[in-house]
Amino acid sequence: MAKYVYTFGNGKAEGKADMKNLLGGKGANLAEMNLIGVPVPPGFTITTEVCTIYNQQGKQAALAAIKPEVEKAVALVEQLTATKFGDKDNPCLVSVRSGARVSMPGMMDTVLNLGLNDRAVQGITQKSGNERFAWDSYRRFVQMYGDVVLGMKPQSKEDIDPFEEIMEKLKEEKGIELDTDFTTDDLKKLVTSFKDAVKQVTGKNFPDDPWEQLWGAIYAVFDSWMNERAIYYRKINGIPAEWGTAVNVQAMVFGNMGESSATGVAFSRDAGTGEDIFNGEYLINAQGEDVVAGIRTPQQITLEGSKRWATLAGIDEKLRESHFPSLEETMPELYAELNAVQEKLEAHYKDMQDLEFTIQEGKLWLLQTRNGKRTGAAMVKIAVDMLEQGIIDKKTALQRIEPNKLDELLHPVFDPEALKQATILAKGLPASPGAATGQIVFFADEANKFESSVLVRIETSPEDLEGMNIAKGILTARGGMTSHAAVVARGMGKCCVSGAGTVRIDYRSRTMTVGNVTLKEGDWISLNGSTGEVCEGKVKTQNPDLGGDFSKIMDLADEFTRMTVRTNADTPHDAKVASKFGAKGIGLCRTEHMFFEGERIKAMREMILSNTIAEREKALTKLLPYQRSDFEGIFEAMAGYGVTVRLLDPPLHEFVPHNKAAQEELAQEMGITMNQLLSKIEDLEEFNPMLGHRGCRLGITYPEITAMQARAIIEAALNLKAKGIDAKPEIMVPLVGTIAELKNQAAVIRETAENVFQEKGDRVDFMLGTMIEIPRAALTADLIAEEAEFFSFGTNDLTQMTFGYSRDDAGKFMPDYLDKNILKNDPFQVLDQEGVGQLVKMGVQKGRSTKPKLKVGICGEHGGEPSSVMFCDSVGLDYVSCSPYRVPIARVAAALANIAKN
Ligand code: PEP
Ligand code: MG
Repeated sequence: MAKYVYTFGNGKAEGKADMKNLLGGKGANLAEMNLIGVPVPPGFTITTEVCTIYNQQGKQAALAAIKPEVEKAVALVEQLTATKFGDKDNPCLVSVRSGARVSMPGMMDTVLNLGLNDRAVQGITQKSGNERFAWDSYRRFVQMYGDVVLGMKPQSKEDIDPFEEIMEKLKEEKGIELDTDFTTDDLKKLVTSFKDAVKQVTGKNFPDDPWEQLWGAIYAVFDSWMNERAIYYRKINGIPAEWGTAVNVQAMVFGNMGESSATGVAFSRDAGTGEDIFNGEYLINAQGEDVVAGIRTPQQITLEGSKRWATLAGIDEKLRESHFPSLEETMPELYAELNAVQEKLEAHYKDMQDLEFTIQEGKLWLLQTRNGKRTGAAMVKIAVDMLEQGIIDKKTALQRIEPNKLDELLHPVFDPEALKQATILAKGLPASPGAATGQIVFFADEANKFESSVLVRIETSPEDLEGMNIAKGILTARGGMTSHAAVVARGMGKCCVSGAGTVRIDYRSRTMTVGNVTLKEGDWISLNGSTGEVCEGKVKTQNPDLGGDFSKIMDLADEFTRMTVRTNADTPHDAKVASKFGAKGIGLCRTEHMFFEGERIKAMREMILSNTIAEREKALTKLLPYQRSDFEGIFEAMAGYGVTVRLLDPPLHEFVPHNKAAQEELAQEMGITMNQLLSKIEDLEEFNPMLGHRGCRLGITYPEITAMQARAIIEAALNLKAKGIDAKPEIMVPLVGTIAELKNQAAVIRETAENVFQEKGDRVDFMLGTMIEIPRAALTADLIAEEAEFFSFGTNDLTQMTFGYSRDDAGKFMPDYLDKNILKNDPFQVLDQEGVGQLVKMGVQKGRSTKPKLKVGICGEHGGEPSSVMFCDSVGLDYVSCSPYRVPIARVAAALANIAKN
C-alpha cells in the first residue's frame, strides 16, 4: 500500500532531505533536522501525492487514502509530547501548514493552535499557569480557523474582516488601543462573539471537536494550493500546478509564554548582500506571525546586527539597549545554541539557510530550515564565497546561479553624485537592493496606473503580490527585514525599503507624509534598496559594477561551457555593450535597423519607391556609404570574432512614411505628385506582410539591393584589413524556404564580392549562410546545406510559422491561452521544444548529414532564455545569440547545460 504520511520527532524521521518532491521542502527538511540532531517539535507530513488525489478525485478519496495513517501519526505526536487531542488536562495542540516542493512564502494557508476548545483551554491555562495566554491563543485560533478554513475572510478590499470589526468595537467600548490591552475576560468574550459570527455567516457551529478541526484544516491547506495568489505565484515562478502541496502537522510550541519565550527568523548569511554574517530578527513573548506581520518592531538577533540596525534607523545606543536589545544580549545561552544550530545547518546543506525558531520557556526549537531566497547580488556572492571557503566545488557554485536572476545585477544603480544632491525624505531598512524610481501608488491593484510606479503601503500582504511584481519598487512603513514585503521583494529581485517608520500613509486621501512634506498619488519618489533611503523625486541612475564576484562567475561559466554566446546587435554601441558582457561575436545584425536614422531613411524611401532599376541604383548608391561605415564600426567592435550580417528582411511597406507631412516632403523630394506617391504606397500594401514580399524574396526581385549590401560588407572588411583589424564577415540570407532561393542570392553575393576583390586588389574570407526560419527550410535542410556554410535558426519566425500564430497579433489571445493552460509558456519567449524544437533538431541533423562540420546557431529571442539555451546545447548548436543584456544569462545557462549533460 502506498505510504502517504511520514512522521518525525525525537531524533527519528521516516523522511529525509532528498524527498522534497514527496514531502515538500518544509516536510523534507523537518525530517532531516530530526536526523541530524536539531531540536524540532514532533509531527508528520502528508505527501504532495495526497494533494493530487484531493484535487483530482475529491475529499472522500483523499480521506480514505490517509485516515488510518493520520490517526496513527497523531497518536505518535500525542505520545512524544505526553498530550491528548482535546484533553482537559494535557491537550495536544498542533499547527497545520502547507509546504510545496519549492517555498511559496505566504501564498498558502496555515492554522495555528489547532486543538483548542472550551475544555482544552482549561488544560492550557493549567499547564502554562497563564490564563490570559491560554485565552489569547484560543482567540487567535478561532479567528485564524474562521478566516482560513471557514471562509470568513473578506473577499474584496472594501469588506471588513468580521473578527477585526468585533475587536475594534470592543476596543472602542473599553477605550483601549492595542490587542495586548485586552483582559482575560475580554478575550473570553471575543471567543464567544467570534463563534457567534461564524454561526451567523456560515450557518454552522464552530467545530469543537479537534479531529473535525484537523480535517478541516488539512482540506483548507489543499484548497489553498488553488487559491488565486498561489496560482499567480506559480505562474510568475514557473511552478507546475501538478506538483501540489504537502501538509505539515506539528506539535505547537509557543514563543508567547512569557519573558523566557521568543520567536524569530534568521539567515545564515545576508540574503540581500550575500555577506557571510549570521543575521535575523526576533521578538520576545510573541508568535511567529507577529514577527513577519510587522505589528511590533522586530529586534535583531546579533549584537552587531542590532547596532547596525540602530544606526540605520537613527536610534541611539542607549535607546537600542533598553528597548531593542539583541537576542545575543537578552538570552546569551540560547543565542549561542541558535548560532551553533545555524552553523550546523549551513554546513549540512552547504547553502545559505533561512530558519524559523521558537524559544518556549527557555528551550530552543527549530520550526523550519530551507535554502534562503536571495537577491541576484547575494546569489553571486554566496556562490563565490562558498567556493572560495571550500564548502562547494566549481560546478556546484555555478549551479547555485539562477541565470535569469543575473538580470538584477546588470541594471542601473543610483548615480552616487545624483544621490548626494537628492532630498532624503525618510530612511527604512534596506530590504531588497537596487534602485527604483517611480510614481507613487497606494494600492497593489493600481500598480499599472503609471508606466513606472512605486508601491507605497503600511505593510504588504500576499494579496499584493501581483502589484508588487508590476511596481518598480516597494516602500512599506512597517515591517522588518523578514516582513512579507521584504521576503517577496528579494525573491523577485525587486527594490524594497521596508519599515520606514517616519512615513505616515493615509490610504483614504492617497497621501504619504514625512514631517512637513506630503506626497500624493502620482508624485515621483526614488528608493535605494541598498541603503534604505527614500528620496523625493527622480534620482539619476548609472550602470552597475560588473567586476569582482560577477566576473568570477562568468569566468567559471566559460570554463564549463561548450557553446559560444554571441549577441544580436545592430549598432557599434550595442556591439560594445555586448562585448563587455562577454559576447564572442554577433549572431545577428539586422541591417534594416540601420536605415531608420536621419538622412538614411530618405534614401531608403527613394529606393523603395523607385520605378526603374536606374532610379533604384541611384538611391542605393546613397545608402552604400552609410552601410559600409556601420559595418566597419561593428566589425571593429567585434574584431577577431564572426559577425553575421543579415540582408534586408522586413516588408518594404514598413519604411514608407505614414503621416501626411512626411509624405508631402517625400513627394517633393522625389519630384512626383502626392497622388503618384500615394498610389505607390498603396501598391506596397499587403494582406499578410509577414508572409509577403520580404526576406530573400526582396533580394530576388531586386538583386541590386543584395548587391549593394554585399558590397558594403566586403568593402568594410577590406577597409579594416588595411588597418590591420581582423573582420570576419558572415553574410546571411533571410527567410529561405527552398535551395533555389539561396542559390539565387548566393550567386549575386559571390559575384559582387569577386568584383570588389578585383577593384581593391585584395581579398578577405567571408562565409555565406542562411537563416532557418521557415519550416520548409528545416525540412529540406540537407539540400540547403549544399549551398550554405552556416545555419542560424530564426526561431521567432520559425515559431510564428510552425504554430501559425502571427508574431504581431499573438498578444490578443496569448494571455487567454496561458490562463486556460492551453500553452504552458508563450512560445515566442520559451522555445517550444515539443514542436518547433523538432524542426530545429531535424534541421541540425539534416544539415550536418550534408556538411558534418556545418556551423549552426540560433538568433531568435530564445537564444537568451535559459531553458531554450539548454535545449540548444542538447541538439548540438555551436552558439546561441541574444540581446546584449541577456549575454551573461546565456553564458551561465550554456555552462549549466553542459554540466547537466556530463
Ligand atoms: C527570427 O525570425 O527568429 C529572427 C531572428 O529574425 P527576425 O526576428 O528579425 O524576423
Ligand atoms: Mg526572422
